[in-house]
Amino acid sequence: MLELSKITKVYTVGGVRQKVLKGIDLNFRESEFAAILGPSGSGKTTLLKLIAGLLVADNGHISGIKESADSGIIYCPQETDEAPENLYSVFWSDDNEVRKFFSMLKVNEEMISRYETLSGGEKKRIQIACALAENPSVLLLDEPTNHLDEATVKLISDTLKLFNGTGI
Ligand code: ADP
Ligand code: MG
Repeated sequence: MLELSKITKVYTVGGVRQKVLKGIDLNFRESEFAAILGPSGSGKTTLLKLIAGLLVADNGHISGIKESADSGIIYCPQETDEAPENLYSVFWSDDNEVRKFFSMLKVNEEMISRYETLSGGEKKRIQIACALAENPSVLLLDEPTNHLDEATVKLISDTLKLFNGTGI
């Protein structure tokens, strides 16, 4: 179980302290996807980055991230401007279990040869395939279905059913 206890995060902007998260307690079970909902600016990205270790909390602690999976924790940012670092190595992996995510998400060789010109939805499918290919114990998806059409959202949610770690 991934456990957040009394997490507080403060941003200081121009000398002014802004408390974005105030003493948050949350538990996430293994093999479950949890959704965090909230209006823009409510602190969703901040929370995910704290779990990912990309930000440090001002107070509280996070425990329970297993290091036993292939890679402990992966954060997929909302933006997909840059191709994932592992794209070529996992796409061309000789392991079926790694490659299967690309076929499920309908990613082919032609697409990965022109990443910059792909649509937002195509880039998102590649980002998620690359993340799943690493078999993380915790997968953090920041606004994974924003601005995507229904068919793409369905493709992504069907593929995520194969993931059996902690998904947020
Ligand atoms: P969400 O993802 O829910 O839209 P964020 O976590 O991105 O929310 O932001 C929460 C609040 O913290 C917002 O008011 C945002 O402007 C502010 N914020 C986010 N990052 C920083 C930062 N690096 N410095 C100062 N303020 C920030
Ligand atoms: Mg956000």
